Amino acid sequence: MRDPLRCVKATVRAAKPYALAARSAPVKLNQNENPFDLPETVKRRVVDAALARPWSRYPAFDPRELREALAAHSGWRADGVIVGNGSNELIEALLLVTIAPGTRVVLPQPTFTLYALLTRILAGEVVSVPLGERFEYDAAGLLSAAREVGAPLLIACSPNNPTGTSLRIDDVARLCAESEGLVVVDEAYHEFSGRSVVPLLGQHSNLVVLRTFSKAMAMAGLRVGYLLAAPELVAEIDKARLPYNLNFFSQAAAVAALDEREALHAIVRRLVALRGELFVGLASIPGVRPVPSEANFILFELAAADPKAVFERLHGDGVLVRDVTAYPKLERCLRVSVGNEEENGRFLGALRAAVGVAEPLSAREGQ
Ligand code: PMP
Repeated sequence: MRDPLRCVKATVRAAKPYALAARSAPVKLNQNENPFDLPETVKRRVVDAALARPWSRYPAFDPRELREALAAHSGWRADGVIVGNGSNELIEALLLVTIAPGTRVVLPQPTFTLYALLTRILAGEVVSVPLGERFEYDAAGLLSAAREVGAPLLIACSPNNPTGTSLRIDDVARLCAESEGLVVVDEAYHEFSGRSVVPLLGQHSNLVVLRTFSKAMAMAGLRVGYLLAAPELVAEIDKARLPYNLNFFSQAAAVAALDEREALHAIVRRLVALRGELFVGLASIPGVRPVPSEANFILFELAAADPKAVFERLHGDGVLVRDVTAYPKLERCLRVSVGNEEENGRFLGALRAAVGVAEPLSAREGQ
């Protein structure tokens, strides 16, 4: 064959891959992971359960125990829950059943890039609605864009990645009531904001909520996500989910993590307090402007310093953050995940040095 790439769809060849530079560092604050791992006792329980089970057999076709535990956890009905191999997989299933060539998908910008990538691969059309001056949501703009183009899908992450800003719950209710299409709210970081749109599911059959165990639930390595929606809609989305998508180890770990929710809530409270301290630390550095965040990361703008040079300096000092300069409106920004006390301290020290301030402002003022 002369050129096997001719067999690949043009929409795929035109798309930019979802890429993450394969870098490592002692202080890893680039993927919004939880710096506090699941307690060892929980891990051991899962390992013991796995050892007692034949590995030669498929996992449950319908992970009912987990779906029921998730229903109880989130306050929604079990027949309105689908579990996936990370929420990424459920994003894919949702878009597979809704996007045909030319389907319009309304997306705020900047946001999590996977939505636009999959939309383009499926030959859908992204309709972008920019976030405001300080990255706040423009709910009226989203609604009018969706109505103008008759978009069957309007997707918003709340809190949004990479800005940390949220949609108001009454705005989501209005979007659901006034839009002709589905309203998808990705709540990957909702635990850090203390709010959720799940209570709206009972009144709005066009609302879809996505959630993950990768952030607050400290289980990014085991890939568990879930989707909540009206049962009739869930039954359709479920057709695009691959059979046996969630292995038995991850199923058992997710049930065990839900049993430990009190310990995990305490970790979330601690991370929210650490986020406050990290924000204050960032704001005290001249030339650094953090954006108030409701998630477990903070976006910050550099007034004068070159963000790519700062990124490299930080990495040279053993601190890995996320370079988000390729996102629209974020040419001057970097994103840092909230780490533990020591990690945040090392990051702030390295950032002060990188932007040319050797000592914290308070220390210098005292001199
Ligand atoms: N949604 C958003 C907004 C995210 O930031 C991420 C992870 N970066 C995901 C979904 C995917 O999470 P998961 O690990 O569950 O696939």
